[in-house]
Formats: sequence, C-alpha cells, structure tokens
Amino acid sequence: MSDWRIHILANGRFSVRFCTEEGLELMPSMENIPSLVFLLQSGSRCLIVDTGFDPEDVGGQGSSAVQGQGESLTEGLKGLGLAPGDISDVLMTHLHWDHTAGMGLFPGARFHVQADALRCFCNLNPNEETYYRPGHWLHLLDRMVFVEGSHELMPGIRLHHTGGHCPGHQAVLVETGQGTVALAGDLPFDYSGLWSALPADFWETYRRGKGGRLWWTKEQWETLYAFMEKKGLMNQPCQAESLGYGKLRRMCSRVFLTHAPELYPSPVGVLSVPV
Ligand SMILES: [Zn+2]
Repeated sequence: MSDWRIHILANGRFSVRFCTEEGLELMPSMENIPSLVFLLQSGSRCLIVDTGFDPEDVGGQGSSAVQGQGESLTEGLKGLGLAPGDISDVLMTHLHWDHTAGMGLFPGARFHVQADALRCFCNLNPNEETYYRPGHWLHLLDRMVFVEGSHELMPGIRLHHTGGHCPGHQAVLVETGQGTVALAGDLPFDYSGLWSALPADFWETYRRGKGGRLWWTKEQWETLYAFMEKKGLMNQPCQAESLGYGKLRRMCSRVFLTHAPELYPSPVGVLSVPV
C-alpha cells in the first residue's frame, strides 16, 4: 500500500449569479463558493487534481470572485516549494470552467480525462457551452490521456468514472496513511436544471451582450471535432459502471469535494492530509 500525502491548496472564492441586465436575480445565486486544488505527493512524485478558476472569468451575469494573496495556483505550489514544471500528471475530475483555468501552467504534464468528458460535447445543450472554456485546454488536447471507466494510474492512485455532476466526471481515489481518500470534484451537485430554469429570453440577451464570449467559436468546435475523430472519440459513451456518491462514501474513509468550505485552508495557504 502506498502512502500518498494530500495537500489542499486555497484557490479563492466566487459567487455565481444569473441576473438580468438591470440586476434582477433570475434564480438563487451561489454565494461565496470556496475553490480548492489538491496536490498529491509521494516521494518525489507530484500530481495535481484540477487546476482552479480564473477570477476574471466567472460564468453567469452579475457574478464575482475574490482571489487574494497566496490563492493563485502558482503561489499555492510555491508554498510547497514546487513549480508547475514539477507536476508530472494533472488529473481532471471534469472540464467545467472552475476546474480548468490553470491547465496551461504545466509545461510537461499529461492530463488524465475521462473520454466521456469529450464525448459529451457531441450532445451539449447549447447554453451549456458557457460552462466550459475551451481556450483553457484546446491547445493541450495532444497531452490528454483518455480514461474509459476506471483506471489504476499508478500504485495508490485510481481514477473512476462517476458521471452524475456532468458526463465524464471522475473521482480520484488516493491511498493515504489514513485509508482511501476520494477526491470527488463536484460529484453530488446537479446543475442540469440550470439550462431550463432560466428563461429563453435571458439566454438570448446574455448571448447578445456580456455572455457572448462564452459561446464557442466555429473554429473551436472544428478543432475539437477533428481531434475527436482522429482519436476515435465520436463513438458510444463509456459502458463501464459508474461510481455514485453514496458508494464512494461507503468505500472511502474520507471524501473531499472541490468546493468544501470546511477544507478551506485558514489562514490562506496549504493544508496537508494526513496531518
Ligand atoms: Zn462542475
């Protein structure tokens, strides 16, 4: 059994609001959501799970973000005596905008992504495009490694398809000195109603106005589809069994979520597990 250490990096907080241009809230906002990045370390091996958000680029209308001193990903790594070049592998729970902003920081890393996380782009609700930032990762497609279901990446690190939060969502199971810890991204949160809860005229106005930049360009779609065709990813979704949140909780001694307020390092910095 390998003993990985998990370091929890503070990445800032954001609030997502969907308001009319006059500031009227169209649905309950998500306020002050803490964002975490997990760094896994065993000997000289360093991996990272998800890469945080860009405070200048939060989805929604009327949204805001705070990323103070010490909360950028590079500062978090520096706090551990590391630089982005020390990270060999980046494990992506999924590709939503608040997990992908730092992907371009890692010059030599491979990115481990469920194949379904790309396949889902063949059937995306048009408004759901706004939850992804292809600019964060389209230039990294050649460094992506695609997982079908579950995969033991190395001793003590397993990736497991969960679905749930979005197609191609995965959890990272880590063997630590205190048992198996699951890094479960956003698994229990369901945003599927968002695309229908907001009225069509909101989406139209949003797209014509400030939100317009969040819809993908024709060139971005063409780049993605050409890559998927080349890699044979235009086929059926993964048939492997998905691991639900309840089962994950029963299987693992602890489950850490990306936006867990109780895990947020205070004072800002890095929290190491086991402590
Ligand atoms: Zn998400």
